[in-house]
Amino acid sequence: MIVEKAEAVLERHGLCDHCLGRLFAQLGKGTNEERGKAIRFVLNMERSSRGLPPLERPERCELCGNVFERIPELVERMIESSKGIEFETFRVGSRFPEGIMEKERALWEEFGIETAEPINREFNRELGKAFGRKTGKETSASPDVVFIVEPYSGKIELQINPVYVYGRYRKLVRGIPQTPLPDFDESVASIICRAFSKAFAGKCVFKGAGREDVDVRMLGNGRPFVVEIKRPKRRRVNLEEVAKEINASGKVEVVNLRFISAKEAEEVLTKNHRKEYLALVLVEEGVTPKEAEEVARKLRGLEIHQRTPWRVRKARADKVRTRIVYEAEARWLDERHFELRLITDGGLYIKELISGDKGRTRPSVSDLLGKKAWCERLDVLNILDD
Ligand SMILES: [Zn+2]
Repeated sequence: MIVEKAEAVLERHGLCDHCLGRLFAQLGKGTNEERGKAIRFVLNMERSSRGLPPLERPERCELCGNVFERIPELVERMIESSKGIEFETFRVGSRFPEGIMEKERALWEEFGIETAEPINREFNRELGKAFGRKTGKETSASPDVVFIVEPYSGKIELQINPVYVYGRYRKLVRGIPQTPLPDFDESVASIICRAFSKAFAGKCVFKGAGREDVDVRMLGNGRPFVVEIKRPKRRRVNLEEVAKEINASGKVEVVNLRFISAKEAEEVLTKNHRKEYLALVLVEEGVTPKEAEEVARKLRGLEIHQRTPWRVRKARADKVRTRIVYEAEARWLDERHFELRLITDGGLYIKELISGDKGRTRPSVSDLLGKKAWCERLDVLNILDD
């Protein structure tokens, strides 16, 4: 059957061994070229026994124009196009002219062939093998770089895949926004990204798992974050060195840096961690130790209904969120101040939990006290893991 079909094809079309073997790609093992050679060999023996002339490999393949012979040259171009880029793994994709893909499909149809493989798939594989042999790099499903090759024009496009790094940051001082803001020279993001951009020689994008306000410190075990470094020229970077450089800022410290996948990065950013806060509460009318204690007791286990705060209503969708206060402890300081240590669901706005935000947060510390209360200072002590 195979040999008969091959004979019918070759009597009408002059194909190279690659293109012949590829018609039967789903049968047996080996490369398409080996398949094509073997089929042609057996076919020509049979023909010889029937006194017929052999169906030799043509000078120029009618389907591919001997494109597989260009592989060594394309490998050189790939090496050239990736000079100065550090990578271990790669993938090859090729753009074949639509005319050739159509010609190939027409051939399958003409001879009722159902065991074939498209030309671009074989070409990607063979070019990848040749590049790997020459450079010692390996192919991977989630590679460091992707070569998009136009086999006929020889044009190579190099996609450099991003690097993702996970870490946790502590913000040791007040007065720095998490991400750049007008009127601020630096941000947590800019301090962190400066070191990453330099080390990886790429563009750094910072994303925090939630955020704290400019005037709020982030202490304890730090807030999870992810940096994405786009088009990095270097990948084998010592993350401890990067951490050292960031920590030398004296304003922001990073810990637990490690490489992660794009999928893990997504998970870090969407996970809603419980948080531990320390708030300094001001009560203008005055507060007694007993009142402070009472507020903390009422807060424990309380469900808070919080409409998007007035101050962020333009940046966030206006909706009512339900969040739980798990723990609350009060420490009375003086006639007008007490400290509140809280553990709450992520996404609860603490300043508004205290003030009540003109009735937008219910109940609030102001409600529970029956007096106006304000958050004078706030620190995130910890972001808790499950
Ligand atoms: Zn061919």
